[in-house]
Amino acid sequence: MDRKMPVKRLLKVLLLVFLAFSTSMAVLGDTGGAALDLLTVGVPVDRCPIFYEDADTGEIVGIGADLMRAAAKNAGYQVSFQSLENATLKEALDQEEYDVVMPFGSAIESTGGHPSIVSENLMQTPFTFLTEGKRDLPPLSKLRVGMLQSLKGIAETVHERFPGMQISMYETMADSVKALREGLVDALLHTSYVWSYVLEKPAYSDLVIQPSTVLSMDFRAGTLDTPAGRAVIDRLNKGISSLDDTLRQAVILDYTSRRLYQYSLSDYLHKYGIALLAGVFLIVAMIVIAMQRIRAVRRWHEEKMRQMMDHDSLTGLLSMNGFRRRVDELLRAHMDSPYFLSYNNIRDFKFINDSLGREAGDALLKFWAGKSIENLSGEETICRVEADHFAVLRRIEGEEEMRKDEKNVFDPVQNFFLNQGKQNRVQICSGIYVLTPKDFRNIDVDHMLDLARVAEKRVRDSRKGNFAFYNPEQWKKGKRIAEIINYLPAAIKSGDIQVWYQPQVDYKTGSITGAEALCRWDHTKLGWLYPFDFISTLEEAGLIFDLDCFVWETVCRDLRRWNEAGDRRSVSVNVSRDDIREDRDIPGHFRNLIETFGLTPDQLRVEITETAYVENPAFLIATTEKLRSYGFQVEMDDFGSGYSSLHMLKEVPLDRIKLDLHFLTSSGDLEKSRTIVSCMIQMTHLLGMEMIAEGVETVEQADFLKSKGCSEMQGYYFFKPMPAPEFEKLKN
Ligand code: C2E
Ligand code: MG
Ligand code: MG
Repeated sequence: MDRKMPVKRLLKVLLLVFLAFSTSMAVLGDTGGAALDLLTVGVPVDRCPIFYEDADTGEIVGIGADLMRAAAKNAGYQVSFQSLENATLKEALDQEEYDVVMPFGSAIESTGGHPSIVSENLMQTPFTFLTEGKRDLPPLSKLRVGMLQSLKGIAETVHERFPGMQISMYETMADSVKALREGLVDALLHTSYVWSYVLEKPAYSDLVIQPSTVLSMDFRAGTLDTPAGRAVIDRLNKGISSLDDTLRQAVILDYTSRRLYQYSLSDYLHKYGIALLAGVFLIVAMIVIAMQRIRAVRRWHEEKMRQMMDHDSLTGLLSMNGFRRRVDELLRAHMDSPYFLSYNNIRDFKFINDSLGREAGDALLKFWAGKSIENLSGEETICRVEADHFAVLRRIEGEEEMRKDEKNVFDPVQNFFLNQGKQNRVQICSGIYVLTPKDFRNIDVDHMLDLARVAEKRVRDSRKGNFAFYNPEQWKKGKRIAEIINYLPAAIKSGDIQVWYQPQVDYKTGSITGAEALCRWDHTKLGWLYPFDFISTLEEAGLIFDLDCFVWETVCRDLRRWNEAGDRRSVSVNVSRDDIREDRDIPGHFRNLIETFGLTPDQLRVEITETAYVENPAFLIATTEKLRSYGFQVEMDDFGSGYSSLHMLKEVPLDRIKLDLHFLTSSGDLEKSRTIVSCMIQMTHLLGMEMIAEGVETVEQADFLKSKGCSEMQGYYFFKPMPAPEFEKLKN
């Protein structure tokens, strides 16, 4: 013994020896209620169920603790277990605060190099190997084993028994399992009791105890080999020897049959992960379904409320509220369609109610509603404004349909009671407001209805006829538009649309240099129509291209005929600004035409109106350039009519400017107009372009233009537009 015994421990041991002596009865197992000596026992607490801290009381308990407590009690000790904290058993041997330390398989040397002594065996502890899955282990002498740092004492014992075994020490159970999984060790070694506890962790469910390979280790208390240490051990040994096996088994059974492992959140996730996820999913799904259901019910209620607000309960027709909404929808969806809004009222409805009864009045209203609905398409709508007042949004283009309405709705309603053998003739007063383009841009149903109501009042007051228009001129205009649009395809086919030619002359030589093609329409219903009557309507309806294609083709056909007759001519054709669109290849179209009819490009001149250049200069310039690259001459039509930009003349690559004399000379100071015209002629020539004046009506105008250097002219002074047969008679 080269180490001095600490004074404190010496005193304690002396006290114990004295107590042992004086209470020899107690040494024999019966403490007889006398005060017991305190024995401080250092133990590792990380090996449930052998030693661990009770989660509720914080007390150190376990198989080892209970057996030691029983043995110590037999030896007259009251045990106080202390956790070894981070110290190993080897290190703890040197620490004075513990009287004994445990568990040891056999006596080992302390970290300080002191020999130790151990008590009798408290129990036989089975040590088993843990592997990843079931597998065969190499012989024990070659096995690579992982153990916990706190089992260092045991590790030494194992090493002594199996010198070939490679033992690696790990700080924590998780570290050792990781090493096992990574193949750094073949197996982990610990007591079977600890394994039974550790394997309760779901994440370790793949680990398997190898029951066939059991190392049996003793379970002893140890202390440094000093006189005091020996005294304690001697006394303890007596207590241990009096422990009986039944108690041992009872204690072991108690701890191993209990479920001591406490699940952490990660354990729950590992074990019940999928079930948990499914549960969460189910709950979320149920919440979503419930919310959808609530929303659907709410929507249903809202819809119901809306239905109630939007519909009239007697007739089932829309109420004013619903009508406003529906009209708004329809007008937005069918912009610029020929719609009218009528306000309809039964004359003296009160009299009907009074004389035939309210029920008869209701029956009439329902009948009227039913007849109207039968007559309406999905693009039209009707509502009951109040009592016997009905409003209708109707899409009607002509009088024929109006007559159908009279026959299908008005007549049956007016004869409703007559048909029942009663003498009451019903009379409907209807006021009609025809929608204008403005009404589509700013939809104001109440305002339109007010206007229709004004017309309805006129009918009611006049006592003449069934209906009146608030704005008959708009009705006529609408009818006319419909007649133009609807008749166009047939007119093109039947030859009602003709191409006329207005010759262009060189005033200096008197020769005809070309002509402008202008269309004329001999309309079945409306008589002769001039371009101003229908061009803008067709442009608005998106039909101008149909007409122009027909005109261009007719011109090409005429040119071919003249060519064939040895009479080569050139003709200018008008191109509407609406023809020139990015999705249409107008230059390519003209090139195809001249190829088809065997013409040369100089025979077709293309007139594009000045305003078109202002609206979309970039695309117009590109189109002009392409046309010219194909050999066509391009003319700017109506120069002076619009917002001529002199700057644009510089940008646009034109061949000819067509000066519209009419726009320049029709108003204002004639002298100033002449100055402007003469400057324009000069400027055009300076810019390297030709000029032709159109709308020349007098010899003075012609002389003036010639004197200023513009001798190409077109106008009534020379020729009016004429049909092709007349034009071809004129000598070139
Ligand atoms: P525009 O291209 O400027 O055609 C000249 C218009 O002036 C023609 O009217 C012609 O008859 C008229 N005019 C000719 N000389 C005189 C004159 O001395 N005095 C007066 N007051 N008028 C004269 P028109 O044929 O009624 O054509 C009107 C416009 O309609 C044309 O103006 C042109 O912009 C357009 N247009 C005519 N035919 C077609 C066509 O086939 N397609 C397209 N897109 N537009 C056409
Ligand atoms: Mg023209
Ligand atoms: Mg013109």
